[in-house]
Amino acid sequence: MIRDIIIIGAGPAGLTAGIYTRSRKMSTLILDAASAGGQLISLYPDKGIHNYPGFAEIQAKKLSERLMAHAESMGCEILESFRAMRIEQGEECFIVRGEKEEFRSRSVIVAIGMGLFKPRKLGVPGEECLHRRGVDYVLPEKDSLVDKHVVMIGGGNSALEMAIIADSVADTTLVHRRDCFRADESVVEALDRSGVRRFLETNIVSINGDEKVESVTLDCGGELVELPADYVIINIGTTPDLEDLKEWGLELDADGLLCVDSDMKTSRPGVFGCGDVVIYPGKYRQIVTACGEAATAANSAYKFVKKPYWA
Ligand SMILES: Cc1cc2nc3c(=O)[nH]c(=O)nc-3n(C[C@H](O)[C@H](O)[C@H](O)COP(=O)(O)OP(=O)(O)OC[C@H]3O[C@@H](n4cnc5c(N)ncnc54)[C@H](O)[C@@H]3O)c2cc1C
Repeated sequence: MIRDIIIIGAGPAGLTAGIYTRSRKMSTLILDAASAGGQLISLYPDKGIHNYPGFAEIQAKKLSERLMAHAESMGCEILESFRAMRIEQGEECFIVRGEKEEFRSRSVIVAIGMGLFKPRKLGVPGEECLHRRGVDYVLPEKDSLVDKHVVMIGGGNSALEMAIIADSVADTTLVHRRDCFRADESVVEALDRSGVRRFLETNIVSINGDEKVESVTLDCGGELVELPADYVIINIGTTPDLEDLKEWGLELDADGLLCVDSDMKTSRPGVFGCGDVVIYPGKYRQIVTACGEAATAANSAYKFVKKPYWA
């Protein structure tokens, strides 16, 4: 069976691309190495999103559920736990190979976000050995935080927003190495209104405990401070893991990101890209831009496959 299109990645970009290809009645298969929803599900399910048009605020998990339900209602087939390893050239089709299975299509959209990304590590004593025993890179379920001591590390939107969420049930401290936050002003204002304690210009010296996290040692401008902690949540960004992409015969930039033109065409005819994975001048990594690029990629794929008279 040869489908019109295979979309690799079921984050906001991939799901939106599917909505658009199905509105053109292209047979569409969306593959995801993990779960549909992308970073919204895997990195920040509880975070509120305040900049997706039409919703003054929507929880990331809810937005991803809506995107997925919309894609399914349009008739997209969505297959989770399928990691695309290769995009090979078949006879008048592409063959997308996974570890055990393969699928064929006339066109492909690459929407793999930052790939199978890994959280960035702090690299301090205690981090590795206490991982999942109090040290984590995503906020645990809110119920498990009730009346605990939570130390959040980071200065971006995600760290601040997760600290605010934790603060609603736990004694929460935010630690950041700089003297001001990278987060949006509106998020900093929300932090100001919360009860989150802060340590700025502060580094983590060690995370301490035997069986589980018991405390953290901070270096506050030369003065060492030990704080009690049940959870240490490290939220200092992610390291993209785009190794798979190197095998797909596509032009990448020096950082390993996928080069596209304004039609979201890659260097390989019939293969398009959208979302966090693509790079072009002025690229801005947001959900709404991923969705916009997805609409363009889907339209370009439609023109490539169906060759309408107007294209
Ligand atoms: C902590 C944090 C908070 C954020 N907050 C906001 C916000 O408030 N507002 C906003 O607009 N943006 C926000 N962003 C950015 C936003 O999440 C991304 O821009 C968006 O998720 C990009 O969507 P995407 O579909 O391109 O990629 P992703 O969401 O990363 O989805 C890509 C999907 O591809 C899959 N995949 C990867 N490799 C393969 C493979 N080989 N085979 C098959 N599947 C594969 C992955 O499993 C993943 O599901 C935030 C990002 C972070 C990290």
